[in-house]
Amino acid sequence: MTTLFSPAPPVLAATTDGQLFPVRRLFCIGRNYAAHAREMGMDPDREPPFYFTKWAEAVVPSGSTIAYPPLTRNYHYEAELVVAISKAGRRIAPADALDHVYGYASGLDMTRRDLQFEARDKGRPWDVGKNFEQAAPLGPIRPASSVGHPSSGSIRLAVNGVTRQDADLSEMIWPVRDVIAHISQAYRLEPGDLVYTGTPAGVGPVVPGDEIRVSIAGLSDTVVTIGPPSND
Ligand code: MN
Repeated sequence: MTTLFSPAPPVLAATTDGQLFPVRRLFCIGRNYAAHAREMGMDPDREPPFYFTKWAEAVVPSGSTIAYPPLTRNYHYEAELVVAISKAGRRIAPADALDHVYGYASGLDMTRRDLQFEARDKGRPWDVGKNFEQAAPLGPIRPASSVGHPSSGSIRLAVNGVTRQDADLSEMIWPVRDVIAHISQAYRLEPGDLVYTGTPAGVGPVVPGDEIRVSIAGLSDTVVTIGPPSND
């Protein structure tokens, strides 16, 4: 048999110690910081975490210029702590959850906010607002063996050097261990999965030419520049 066309190459994320982390799937948590839930017009009661997914190929490395995506007039940044999974598991107990973590990175859950809100308000899936090409910039993954399992420390985002998001990881409604335990009730987590753990308050729009920098204590920054609209 012949293969009809070349399969897509694997998505390989960099680690801070020079290794490559093969990316499998992306799970993204919604409304995991109370102040951000409020700015989205929602009540931040501690309801169970919910999530959406992105393709692995949405990952782009820090240092990239990413195209302004089609169909939107309100393209938003969301700074997030990203958890890299390296051990499979289903129905993982919170007490065991961190055993499944390879390491941590800073990252961005880029969002076509107008399309997300239109979908949300009509009770439709969020995909078109959240999952598209280059929608998941990711910094180098730092192994937990060197950084530990951060549960506090600053998470900040600046656009063109001006701080727009400034919070602390300890403000997460659902900490990493609870998020892993919850997702693994629905799916068998696999090595290569990434979990984007939600964004703090202060989300906002960017335009072509803007530079976004995400800084999380103990981790490498994620920096991307917004390029012109995509035409391919
Ligand atoms: Mn997000």
